[in-house]
Amino acid sequence: MICPVCSYAFAVAGPDASGRAATLVDCNHCGKFGLTGSLVACLPTLLAQRDAAPKLSHVIRRAHETGQLLLLDSYTTEAILENPLPRPRFVLRAIGSVECVAAVALFGQQRSMLIGQI
Ligand SMILES: [Zn+2]
Repeated sequence: MICPVCSYAFAVAGPDASGRAATLVDCNHCGKFGLTGSLVACLPTLLAQRDAAPKLSHVIRRAHETGQLLLLDSYTTEAILENPLPRPRFVLRAIGSVECVAAVALFGQQRSMLIGQI
């Protein structure tokens, strides 16, 4: 099935093992999470908000990375969506490598300056 949050095509959904009225989703992009029945009904409306899907997917992924299974209800989802979208980590990595290249270039410059002084 398609992940109800990020629309990734290879998510697996099933009933929640705890017996709660929730659907368990295992998405290759977001990770594992649960959706309550009431959230399933109002999720399309909530996701119509700007950046809603990336915000929700990010929070689910963070929880999944720390070994937590997030059970989302409509109250929790609305609270998550009130927060701003975090800066993507790949952008930080890209800035890091640019700084690294600049540092190497600077090092090369200083070395050639030293060579010039000798
Ligand atoms: Zn997903």
